[in-house]
Amino acid sequence: MATKKKATKVEEVVEPKMEFEDDPVEAVDPAPVQATEVLKPITLTCVECGQEFIISPAEQKFFAKMGYELPKRCIDCRDSNKKETTFTCVDCGAEFTMKGSELSFYKKCGFEVPKRCPSCRNFKKIRNERSKEAE
Ligand SMILES: [Zn+2]
Ligand SMILES: [Zn+2]
Repeated sequence: MATKKKATKVEEVVEPKMEFEDDPVEAVDPAPVQATEVLKPITLTCVECGQEFIISPAEQKFFAKMGYELPKRCIDCRDSNKKETTFTCVDCGAEFTMKGSELSFYKKCGFEVPKRCPSCRNFKKIRNERSKEAE
């Protein structure tokens, strides 16, 4: 216990100095600098499904850092664009995959989603071109 008392005595000598240094700093310390850095979550409406989604401050910082524009689609739509859907070719029965972004492209353009695998589609194309040449 005696040693502790000695220690506090030493601190007492140091403390007044620190208090003196702290006081003016606290009074001057400007908060606005921090406030501008604090980002708020942004609520956007998805251009694909019309659902509202939130871009967190961390995401905003990430997009700003990378020089990207803020996403126009919600996380679900962004995910489904990457997702692949498996279809079965009506001609040869082979399975082929289409990305969500491709499917939404077809829908947007008013095209029917292909029912044939890429090789059958190519084959049909070639045959059409050949039959045209033959005519
Ligand atoms: Zn969406
Ligand atoms: Zn096929």
